[in-house]
Parts: sequence; C-alpha cells; structure tokens
Amino acid sequence: MHAEILSIGTELLMGELVDTNSSYLASELAKLGIEVRWVTKVGDDPDRLFEAIDRASKRSDVTLTSGGLGPTSDDLTRETIARVCGEKMAVQDDLLEHLRGLFANRGFPMPETNVKQATLIPSAQAIANPMGTAPGWWVERDEGIIVAMPGPPREIQRMWAYEVSPRLKARNPGIAIVTRNLKTFGISEGGLDEMLSTLFKSENPLLGIYSKQDGIHLRAIATASTDDEASALIAPMEAEIRRIIGDDAIWGEDDETPESKAVALLRDEGLTLGVIEAFTGGLLCNNLTEVAAHDAVLNGGAAASGRDALARLGVSAALIDKHGAASAEAAEDMARAAREMFGADVGVGISPLALESADGRVVAGTSFIGYSMDGRSDSTSGHYPTRRLRIRGRAVTHALLGLIRFLRCQSLQGPTLRR
Ligand code: AMP
Ligand code: MG
Repeated sequence: MHAEILSIGTELLMGELVDTNSSYLASELAKLGIEVRWVTKVGDDPDRLFEAIDRASKRSDVTLTSGGLGPTSDDLTRETIARVCGEKMAVQDDLLEHLRGLFANRGFPMPETNVKQATLIPSAQAIANPMGTAPGWWVERDEGIIVAMPGPPREIQRMWAYEVSPRLKARNPGIAIVTRNLKTFGISEGGLDEMLSTLFKSENPLLGIYSKQDGIHLRAIATASTDDEASALIAPMEAEIRRIIGDDAIWGEDDETPESKAVALLRDEGLTLGVIEAFTGGLLCNNLTEVAAHDAVLNGGAAASGRDALARLGVSAALIDKHGAASAEAAEDMARAAREMFGADVGVGISPLALESADGRVVAGTSFIGYSMDGRSDSTSGHYPTRRLRIRGRAVTHALLGLIRFLRCQSLQGPTLRR
C-alpha cells in the first residue's frame, strides 16, 4: 500500500505557516508500513486543488489531505473531492444537528457558512472530530481511498490516532514495523559510520544514522508480520551495536531526552540538583521542569550573570578575577556554589559566554559548564557559532549530556562507566 499526502492552504505556499502535518503523517504512515510516495503542498485555488487531488487519487492507493475543511469560502477540500468523484454534496441531518449542538454549547448561533461542514458525498463517511467542528471525510472508491482531515495539528493528530490509523492498519494487515533508537555521544558521525559499516549493509533491520542536537542517533527499523518478530530482528543488531561502540557511548534510547535521562539518573541515585546559569538565563531549569518527575530531584536554580551577581550567589569573586567568569575554574565554582545555595548533592554551573570576534563581528562563543558533587568536580566546554537563542538551547543540551556523563562516569573525559 502506498500513500500521498496533500497539505492544503495558501498560507503554506507563502511561507507563513510551516507544514508540520505532512511530516507528522509521513512518520505515522511509516509505522504502519505504508510507503509515502509524494508529499504535495497546494494553495486554496479550485483548479490547482482539483488537479492535485485528482492526480493523487489516480496514482496513490491512499490520498491523505490536511486543511481546507473550515467554514469559509476558501476552504475547498470537500467541494473539490466531490468534483473529483463526480458526486454531489448533500447536507446530513445528523451531522447538522451535531454541529448546531456544538455551537449551542458555546452559546453562539451557528453561522450558515458552517452548514457545509455537515455535508457528505455518497462515497464518503464522516470521521468524528472531537477537537473541532469539522468532521473528516473517509472516501472509498474503486480507485482508492481519500481521507480528508482538518488542518489544526491537535485535530488532525487526534483524528489520525483514533480514527484513521486503525482503519488503515486494518487494510494493511500482516505488516508490523518496530523501530529502536539508540542515542549516542562522544563518537563522531564518521567514526560511528566506520565502526558500524557492516551493520549499515543490513536491509532488515535497516540501520540509519542521524546527527541531532543531542548527539548522533542510530535508528534500526525492522519489518515483519508481527511486532514480536520485528523486535526479534532488532535485538541482535542492538546487541552488536552495543558490543562495538560500548554502552558508554549510548546515553539514551527511543523517546528519552537529555532532561528525562538526567532526571532519571539523579532519581535512581537518590541525588538532588542545584543549578546556577549565567548565559542560559534559566533555560536548563526550564527544560528540566518539563520532566514530570523533576520536582523530586531539582532543588533549585538561579540565573545570574556578571561578577557581582555571581559573587552574591556565593561564587568566588577572587576566582573570577583571576580566571575570568567564562572559565573552567569559575564554572566549577558556580557548580559548587549551586550545591551550597540549594542544599543539593550535585551542582551544575553554566558560565557566561566568552565571545570571539573576527572582522569586528562576533562569530562564536565558548561557554564552560562545571559539575560538582561530594569530593568531585569537573568541567567541559562548548564552542558555539552565534545566534543566541539557538546556542542557548545547544548549551543546555550540552550541559545535560555532560551531567549524564558526570553521573555515570568517573571523569568527563574518560570512558569508564560507573553505572
Ligand atoms: P484550514 O482547515 O485549512 O482552514 O486550516 C486551519 C488551521 O490549521 C490553519 O490556520 C493552521 O493553523 C493549521 N494548519 C493547516 N494546515 C496545516 C499544516 N499543513 N501544518 C500545520 N498546521 C496547519
Ligand atoms: Mg485554509
């Protein structure tokens, strides 16, 4: 079974709206073993929309559309599907009653333009949309299936997960796809590629390598007729990867994030954390608070920059004067001060950014990240090209990966695993 995704809306072609729906659907279809052959973006123009839907429905087993189900005159997906199928739209009493009920609950009269959201063509069934007013359409013909879904991401994602995906899965039985993602640090992409070269030749599971902000990811995808069989194909490949690159080089798996992993490690060891952030202004704490279990481990954090502000938090002014605030020494002292200030077992300090200029322009910056716990202190540094918001995010990811390593290993440099 193969599919085509159509993202509909003029905003998409003007660069005003980023098409996240097609990437969502593409990754979901892959999980069902349905190959995506085309992704098309098309504006709210009747003829071009007709051309796109007509072509997709002729060349693809399944055509999935997003957007254009709103009540306004530029929302044309239903009208166009009707034209492609050569069928007439008719208002459905049950859908209209439901729609009027939604408006009544909100205390608004229903504008007449919304009536078209209660229509169907003979080949279409309505797909429930509990997150919005527009039901989707499931259109079934000899030529194939057309599924029309709404544009707002929370609506399409709910409709996909509860309505569309189960129906497509039932049409495409006997295919199970299992993926396993190993997230690495400390070995370059080229290094991993070389070390794992024989595994990259395997077709099932297929091994992919992806460079991400939080390290190089190794993703194995296996296809079989059941989940268990697919998992059984992946297990020996995972064992082989772990044997070749070592468990030290893997910081996380599947959906784990640097923050969830750091929180889990701290919690498992019964340790608490205190943080002082100079140039990231609280972003590390902010990211940690996204993890539900953070309150058991995060004692507190402070954002401060400048010698005097740092000194007020207990960082040694003499040390800053000697080495500068952007130094390994200052970062480690910030980590020590963070422990004291928040009564925590482990401290992290992110130094201010030391900027580097060329031709009178700032081109890069270096931040030092210090770690401290009873009897141990260590630091690492990150060198970032400028663009402040993004590099703050990168520095925080770097700080979290360093924390994972600090908790697991004897030293930030050495590979010896403590646990
Ligand atoms: P529409 O159903 O075309 O009126 O779309 C309604 C809203 O859904 C738009 O204003 C966007 O906020 C959102 N939306 C539509 N298409 C997409 C898309 N491809 N990716 C992400 N959001 C979208
Ligand atoms: Mg639209």
